[in-house]
Amino acid sequence: MKVRVRFAPSPTGFLHIGGARTALFNWLYARHTGGAFILRIEDTDTARNTGPAVEVILNGLRWLGLDWDEGPLTSDPAGPSKGERGPYFQSQRRAIYQRHVERLLARGLAYEDDGAIKFRMTREPVEIEDLIVGRVRRELTDREAQDPDFILVRSDGQPVFHLVNVVDDLEMGITHVIRGEDHLSNTAKHLALFRALGAEPPRYAHIPLILNPDGSKMSKRDVGASLTTYMEEAYLPEALVNYLVLLGWSPKEDRELFTVAELIERFDLSRVQRHNARFDLTKLQWMNGEYLRALPPERFDALALQTLRRAGLDPDRFPPAYVRAALDTCRGKLRTLTELPAYGGFYFTGVTGYDAGAAAKHFTPENRPRLQRLRDALTRVESFDAAALEACLKTTAAELGVKPAVLVHPVRLACTGRSSGPSLYHLMEVLGRKETLARLDAALQTIPASAGSPASP
Ligand code: GLU
Repeated sequence: MKVRVRFAPSPTGFLHIGGARTALFNWLYARHTGGAFILRIEDTDTARNTGPAVEVILNGLRWLGLDWDEGPLTSDPAGPSKGERGPYFQSQRRAIYQRHVERLLARGLAYEDDGAIKFRMTREPVEIEDLIVGRVRRELTDREAQDPDFILVRSDGQPVFHLVNVVDDLEMGITHVIRGEDHLSNTAKHLALFRALGAEPPRYAHIPLILNPDGSKMSKRDVGASLTTYMEEAYLPEALVNYLVLLGWSPKEDRELFTVAELIERFDLSRVQRHNARFDLTKLQWMNGEYLRALPPERFDALALQTLRRAGLDPDRFPPAYVRAALDTCRGKLRTLTELPAYGGFYFTGVTGYDAGAAAKHFTPENRPRLQRLRDALTRVESFDAAALEACLKTTAAELGVKPAVLVHPVRLACTGRSSGPSLYHLMEVLGRKETLARLDAALQTIPASAGSPASP
């Protein structure tokens, strides 16, 4: 039997990281088994059904690369989502729900009560065979023991979640319902409805929740909860996919970095973990850094330029070879692209100020003549490349009887305004002799000649 799974979000205007992971697990399972991945927007709660809220979900899935199958053709075949199908909207499927309700009514499995339609729920405990959670026996709560029946259609004609969720899973031939564990408590109702509709229920697989680092449940307001944040902060989608899949699934291999193709090959429900997963932003950032490092240079450069422009820098003023060389010294040093403007912005802005703490420490009267000496030595370096610059700095330090670090720190500060950044010799090479000397001269101007008195012009 061909696997058919679905992601069934409600359009709340927000795609939670847990929802994104649910979508990913469904997608991977479909791709792994050669099945179908269906996208269904659960928008019967019409008050919340807005176009932009749906777009947030679609854009998030597109960004992650989770393409969905089937569904009606989209209205704009030439638009950005050209040729894309679906999704299904529950708000457009009222007639289908109505038909099933009438069948239940006709067979006495549902009844009218105060204008609403209620389901005649089983009075027996329900056994759930969950693919992840295992066997769960759902006893009736005290309240349910009194009256386990529940509403299918409200008195205003609005079908409720349990009904539309089950009818659609039935109509769409869903074979596996992979969803968050918060829905385990609904599953007894869903199984009973399936049986009442005369259908074999799908297999259920409830995946553990994503918790905050402190173990509390991750809500909408928590840091990192919204997928949009990662899109805005220019994370790499492939890094987020890799990170998310490990939140609750384990490949049982001694490594953590997997391409999407490798994930598709390996993903299976049997290795979804039972326990809740804790969200760890530091690990995600590390992983993103690994993916940044491994990017082909052209893609890294394109993303880096976008990030710099967005930060208000103007890298396009500079010769392409300069930009490429500058970005080359940053690649592999960043965890996220948003770190780039602070890390390598000095290539494109000049030095706009000196880190105050570092200046107090390194722009000292004793260092002034040392820096001056290095400046003069730099005018004589034949080829202004990293190896020659390193040799020049080390020789000068030896002549001065100081450790290289005594020069390295003030020179870095002079060239970049900061106390950390790309490899010093490489960044000087990229800046070139003229610019490096100009930056050293500008710094020398600000260094006091002797304790207390500012440099004479
Ligand atoms: N609309 C439900 C949700 O967003 C779907 C639950 C399910 O996957 O069955 O939680």
